[in-house]
Amino acid sequence: MAKELLHKKMYINGKWVDSQSGKTRTIIYPYDQRPIAEVAEGDVADAKAAIAAARTAFDDGRWAATSGAERGRLLYRLADAIERDAEELAELESLDTGKTMEESRWDMSDIAGIVRYYAGLADKDAGEMIDSPNPNSESKIVREPVGVCSQISPWNYPLLQASWKMAPALAAGNTIVMKPSEDTPLTTIKVTELAEEVGFPAGVVNLVLGPGPTVGHEMAESHDVDLVSFTGGIETGRKIMQAATGNMKKIAFELGGKNPNIMFDDVDFDLAVDYVLNAVFFHAGQVCSAGARLLVQDTLHDRLIDAVVERARKIKLGDAFASGTQCGPLISEKHRAKVERYVAIGKEEGARLILGGERPSDPALQKGFFFLPTVFVDCDTRMRIVQEEVFGPVLTVERFSTEAEAVTLANDTTYGLSGAVWTRDQNRAQRVARALRMGTVWINDFNVYFAQAPWGGYKQSGIGRELGKQGLEEYTEVKHIYQNFATEPVGWFGVE
Ligand code: NAD
Repeated sequence: MAKELLHKKMYINGKWVDSQSGKTRTIIYPYDQRPIAEVAEGDVADAKAAIAAARTAFDDGRWAATSGAERGRLLYRLADAIERDAEELAELESLDTGKTMEESRWDMSDIAGIVRYYAGLADKDAGEMIDSPNPNSESKIVREPVGVCSQISPWNYPLLQASWKMAPALAAGNTIVMKPSEDTPLTTIKVTELAEEVGFPAGVVNLVLGPGPTVGHEMAESHDVDLVSFTGGIETGRKIMQAATGNMKKIAFELGGKNPNIMFDDVDFDLAVDYVLNAVFFHAGQVCSAGARLLVQDTLHDRLIDAVVERARKIKLGDAFASGTQCGPLISEKHRAKVERYVAIGKEEGARLILGGERPSDPALQKGFFFLPTVFVDCDTRMRIVQEEVFGPVLTVERFSTEAEAVTLANDTTYGLSGAVWTRDQNRAQRVARALRMGTVWINDFNVYFAQAPWGGYKQSGIGRELGKQGLEEYTEVKHIYQNFATEPVGWFGVE
């Protein structure tokens, strides 16, 4: 684990630079609030400089005109470098977020795989010929990069989310300006160092650090940006959408979720218990697709909840680097306060708290932003605790009796990111999966995602898709080129 305080800068036009104001920000380890890094704190001027560098690098064709094979080659080298330095990257991710090393190692392995997947796609789409109504003509469709892309990421999966944006954008020939969350910049900085090492041309990959309302706003507002890709909360999404209207830039949004985990009474009981816990308490619930809403069939309800509570009580909170830790802290004091507000709201609304609902009393955990695994029963869809994203270790439980009721309840939210259905009845599983208004539905599993499968939200959970071929298409414009081989005079105007 890194012991000394790290000092890190921003990367603009192929150079590591301090912020123009000279300001810095201290990054802390959420387990004990120990300072781990001092990083440049950018402002609007730094964002403008990064955007200008990306604009020039796009417009002069140094990347867009590079062959797909060459773009892929550099991305393969980046994936190799990520794999080589995976342990260091995982340590930085755990220091930034407080998540266990085991989780961070999985993330790094996924990230290398995602970069490799898009490296492989970089030279695969040569466009297509289409049938033209004029036999003396030829029509083809080609895909071209969108241009300069702003990429704004959240703190819960800092490098994973950044890689879902960075890899397809670069594969498609765009130039990028990345901004990680101000709380968790270290792995995005490190991956930028790797991008420099493997030889991406100056100006193609740029990194700015700093607050959302200034740096992020400029990245969303600037007329020199062609696309803004954002992963984060819905309210921030609204602001970015408004800021993006000035030049009608494209937007790609991955927003929140309030994801139903639906358990029918024919489910394998032990699996059900295991996956209820994993779906909601993994990474302290700070997962956009967390199964924070448990929908249980009446006939299974009491037995399942008893077993879930018994095991949830034993979840071992602690230091990301200590063996045996199952769950780290929340990201910040501010975020813990938000989770606590929601617990208070849940109680006021009449949900019955049967586990947790407070900070742990363990003296070893007092410096970290810990919160106990929490379970509310007797919940219904009129409650804010059921409708709104708490983004913490808080499970709400609703009952249903019929399949139709389960589907109605599950869909009764403004979100539509993901959901799961658990049953041994395969026909029912398929019916429910089709009926859910969500971008991803798991049958007898939870939180499975991979590079080949598109990820994104219905309703207010997002716009567009990341991952899969669709994730690459987000970063392309479609052009139709028509050529006439035997052009004839029109003779319409001014001819006697
Ligand atoms: P957030 O919205 O507070 O911040 C996300 C990013 O936006 C940060 O980099 C922040 O600096 C920036 N930002 C803040 N205000 C801005 C503004 N006015 N203009 C431009 N940028 C601005 O989100 P968060 O708290 O970091 O992350 C948690 C949220 O992310 C949750 O809602 C979660 O569901 C969502 N998330 C979604 C997915 C997904 O795939 N759908 C994945 C991970 C996280």
